[in-house]
Amino acid sequence: MLEAYGDPMPQRMSTGPDETVETACPLDCPDSCSLSVKVNEGRVVAIDGSHRSLTTAGFICDKVRRFADRVTGEARLRHPAIRTGPKGQAAFSQISWEEAIDLLAARLRETRDRWGGEAILPFSYGGSNGLVTQDTSDARLFASLGASRLARNVCAAPTGAALAAMYGRMPSVSYPDYEHARLIVIWGANPSTSAIHLMPYVQRARKAGATLIVVDPRVTQIARQADLHVPVRPGTDLPVALALHRHLFESGAADQAFLSAHARGAERLRERAAEWTFERAAEVAGVAASVLREFAERFAAASPALVRCGWGLERNRNGGSAAAAVLALPAVGGKFGVRGGGFSMTNTPAWGIERTWLDAGDGDRPRPRTVNMNLLGRALTEYDAPPVKLLFVYNSNPVVTIPDQARVLRGLEREDLFTVVFDQVMTDTAAYADLLLPATTFLEHYDLTRAYGPISLQMVRPVIDSVGEARSNPEVFGSLLSALGLADGKDQGELETLLEVMGHLPPAVANALENGDRPEPAFGLTPVQFADVRPGTPDGKVDLFPEALEAESSAGLYRYIPDPASGRYPLALISPASNRTISSTLGELPRPQPSLAMHPIDAHARGLAEGTLVRVFNDLGEVRCPVSIEPTVRPGTVSLPKGLWRKSTANGFTATALAPDTLTDIGAGACFNDARVEVEKVE
Ligand code: SF4
Repeated sequence: MLEAYGDPMPQRMSTGPDETVETACPLDCPDSCSLSVKVNEGRVVAIDGSHRSLTTAGFICDKVRRFADRVTGEARLRHPAIRTGPKGQAAFSQISWEEAIDLLAARLRETRDRWGGEAILPFSYGGSNGLVTQDTSDARLFASLGASRLARNVCAAPTGAALAAMYGRMPSVSYPDYEHARLIVIWGANPSTSAIHLMPYVQRARKAGATLIVVDPRVTQIARQADLHVPVRPGTDLPVALALHRHLFESGAADQAFLSAHARGAERLRERAAEWTFERAAEVAGVAASVLREFAERFAAASPALVRCGWGLERNRNGGSAAAAVLALPAVGGKFGVRGGGFSMTNTPAWGIERTWLDAGDGDRPRPRTVNMNLLGRALTEYDAPPVKLLFVYNSNPVVTIPDQARVLRGLEREDLFTVVFDQVMTDTAAYADLLLPATTFLEHYDLTRAYGPISLQMVRPVIDSVGEARSNPEVFGSLLSALGLADGKDQGELETLLEVMGHLPPAVANALENGDRPEPAFGLTPVQFADVRPGTPDGKVDLFPEALEAESSAGLYRYIPDPASGRYPLALISPASNRTISSTLGELPRPQPSLAMHPIDAHARGLAEGTLVRVFNDLGEVRCPVSIEPTVRPGTVSLPKGLWRKSTANGFTATALAPDTLTDIGAGACFNDARVEVEKVE
């Protein structure tokens, strides 16, 4: 297909009876590895990392090594099908694609005509999608129908809002420059499981003498290696960061020259930080004041010093302010302008890819309502102007990823709701579908994937033919556009969509992909902040107190909102990514039975022994699973893995059943870590 571009990069090499195909991993993971996939007679034999991407360096995670188990596994969807049993029972009967497209086109038209376009709710997330398979023909279809829009806020919304307001989405320090840091702070992230290609750079920095500080309620693998581990209570990152700011300002360690030349709002940040002495922050965060003092002093003294702002710290009521306070640290501490100094977060903005051409078709149509994906349960059970009548889920498994699982399930059980699920495998959400459509995996279609850790943009190529009758997103959405007479005479299949996206890339990027080179932004793959790249704010300065964030937060920017724990539900439940699941993708594969991690003090107080079957509960629901007693979580906090599927627990509910659908202070993100629970033995 890529002949139009001369199919530049070496894609297929014969190695005896096997063929090796070069592609890339588009799964929701910061690293976007380059892959070498060995195929034999149309079957995937082995998947490994290649050396085309410098950061992949020839190795990948076990999840993707096992990806062939998804491609041809038992759960794989191979044919379109319609429901034949009660919702949730996964009883279906095969139909043809022609029937499926006709049926779906008729339902879309009927729903729009009778209830209005907003009664159609598309629901998707980027678990396995890149620039070609998402927000292209799908966006056109739903915009043409006037469907409700979806705010994809389940992850990275608070951190994204803080970054955009403060730094105008300035690119961040890329993996290779970690080696140059003399101090690395990993805050609310666990790269040992969810950014594994960062680890070698951190190790090299450590060997060269860098100090490592980890802020995390759990003793993760990287926390074990740290010089200083700060095991904060979930949701208290904000006071800790403000105590650091207070120290920088009060001790004279704030870089006044940098702040006067390159920042706005420092004085207001200083005022809000003033009340957070080490003692006060330590009490709220449940750590020793001496630990916070050591943290602050080490950070103030080190250069180059680097702060990795993770996504763990945003998943609570204070998430936006916490992210802003953490991102402000390198500015106040004067850590920019040197290689290995500054902050590290997402690097997707590095490519300057604006997908504005997709909105061009909206014309003068009034903008439809926007539904926050975190409120799916409410959208399905409470909306009435108009009610959601057709839910189109693709590349997403909201039953196990969206807060308030019981409410989401109640919504999906509605007999008057027509649910389409277009996915690769029989997910927990697919079991509730009225119409099932089989989707290709990234080994069966083209895509373009942007890393959000390193700066990298790569082509994803089909390695094998589609399994069964699976089709790619552009093919299916293109067919629907045609069936509904919305295609404007344009063919919008996979190839056309790929070429269209390539045609809208910045010319230098598109040229590099066409020529088989590794694309690079103008500032290279390892920009130094405030030297090679600068804030994209209107005046080019970092805004340490954006008025928009102050206005958005009901409490005010940098104002701490207290812990929601109660006497009934005293334990904070967190649900971090694991080496099995970063999102819920691949949760269908067999895994050892997951358990609730609990500190020995909490287990002892409840008379629990290792392996006891417990109920973890609050007013929203209950999860039943064994308990694992370990000092890897701090007392008062319990932990269940993120992305579990319903079969993983004894009662078919997962951590999202206990997560409230309240929203973060800034960015309207999910508050998974505000789940407060009690735990008791199942009698
Ligand atoms: S999931 Fe992450 S680590 Fe695993 S292959 Fe994909 S990009 Fe690499």
